Amino acid sequence: MSKTIAAVATGNSAAGIGVIRISGDDAIAIADKVFKPLDGTPLTEVKGYTAKYGNVITDGEAFDNAIALIFREPRSYTGENVVEISVHGGIFIVEKTLQSVFSAGAIPAEAGEFTKRAFLNGKLDLTQAESVAELISAQGQEAAKASFNLLQGSLSNKINKILDSLIDCSATMAAWVDYPDEEIPELSDESLNETLLTARNSLSDLIKNYESGIVMTQGIDTAIVGKPNVGKSTLMNMLSGEEKSIVTHIEGTTRDVVEGSVKLGNLVLHLSDTAGIRESDNIVEAIGIKRAKEKIDTASLVLAVFDSSSPLSTEDRGLISKCSGKQSVAVINKSDLDAKLDISEIEKAFEHVVYISAKQGDGAEALEKEIKNLLGVNGFDSSQPLLANQRQKNCVVNALAHINSAIEGAQMGITFDAINVMIDSAVDELLSLTGKKATEEVVNNIFSRFCVGK
Ligand code: GDP
Repeated sequence: MSKTIAAVATGNSAAGIGVIRISGDDAIAIADKVFKPLDGTPLTEVKGYTAKYGNVITDGEAFDNAIALIFREPRSYTGENVVEISVHGGIFIVEKTLQSVFSAGAIPAEAGEFTKRAFLNGKLDLTQAESVAELISAQGQEAAKASFNLLQGSLSNKINKILDSLIDCSATMAAWVDYPDEEIPELSDESLNETLLTARNSLSDLIKNYESGIVMTQGIDTAIVGKPNVGKSTLMNMLSGEEKSIVTHIEGTTRDVVEGSVKLGNLVLHLSDTAGIRESDNIVEAIGIKRAKEKIDTASLVLAVFDSSSPLSTEDRGLISKCSGKQSVAVINKSDLDAKLDISEIEKAFEHVVYISAKQGDGAEALEKEIKNLLGVNGFDSSQPLLANQRQKNCVVNALAHINSAIEGAQMGITFDAINVMIDSAVDELLSLTGKKATEEVVNNIFSRFCVGK
């Protein structure tokens, strides 16, 4: 028998409504003590998939009008009896209702416990459970789409298909090895080879798309750098659509790093507008410049800004050499002014160059295209199954290594039972990816990263 848990399922701020979620064998009996439908029916007699309008009762008194949604096991998110009480969303009201639910016998839910119970009751596999966390923290359209696909089971379906063919192949080989007297048809080399190569291709595709999936769903850490006055802050403001950085013609205005996440088309950039890089005696400015230089080293993408209306300077040359070896785009700004910049040195040093006028808001699309070219995410398709995190990727990388060994082994003519050991190891990795064979430690680790109420 599972203990009945409860938590606030909505955010911790004043809102139109707040939802208290209760799950467990006694969820309905506990909810019945704190919620009275206006039509007088006790919640214990209410069918599943029913909404009831009524009052929350605390200390014997009606405290708020609310709606209770009843789900009877197994047809609920967790697979258990679940009641969701939607009260008016003031923090005090929500907390007081939750306390009443605790007084009526529920215990506080741990982080991720609702989704963990859904997993343990077979409602979701691990990739789907992880997608719940991703969906909630999704920052942009692509992240939301990719997580929703995961939740729908796109990755599980793909992995299960690979698993089916490997298990089938492994079972045939095992039967053939173990029961030589039975008339079990031998697995042909071609058929074995085809199964292994198909698995290898599917797994390799997942790994190949992992990096672009991460970039497109989680965004990319991007530094805007350049000497003073080239238009870094104006670019930051153009991209963010708000005055995050102060734009002036006085050099050295941005003295530290200004940060913000922006959408550029369907890309999410986590931007840092840095202090203009130049020699400075001013202590505060010098600290900003030091941080700007560090940001070039740590960011995943650098937008190196140059002013097309002034000749290339020593500071520009310093920036060019600092960007060498980094994923960077040369952004030639102020393209609305007469060009005085000789860009041959820039074109030699940067594979990706784009012309913009940040002040006039021109060039965002060209910049997006160039960044996507650089990151190799131009053809990114969020409807394809994607690996959502490093854990999932590790399982696939390990499974692929076993499949590769099996392919090599088959080519060298090693025995079927040796090949079978490798296939079984690949199967184990994929089963731990979907959670069918994940250790308790892995499962606990995954759900501990959720927050309470999920
Ligand atoms: P930062 O020091 O690199 O951050 O430069 P700012 O963004 O503060 O801009 C310095 C000056 O250049 C300001 O007067 C801006 O209005 C001007 N500026 C920035 N971008 C452009 C542009 O695309 N065209 C023109 N004509 N002026 C610009």
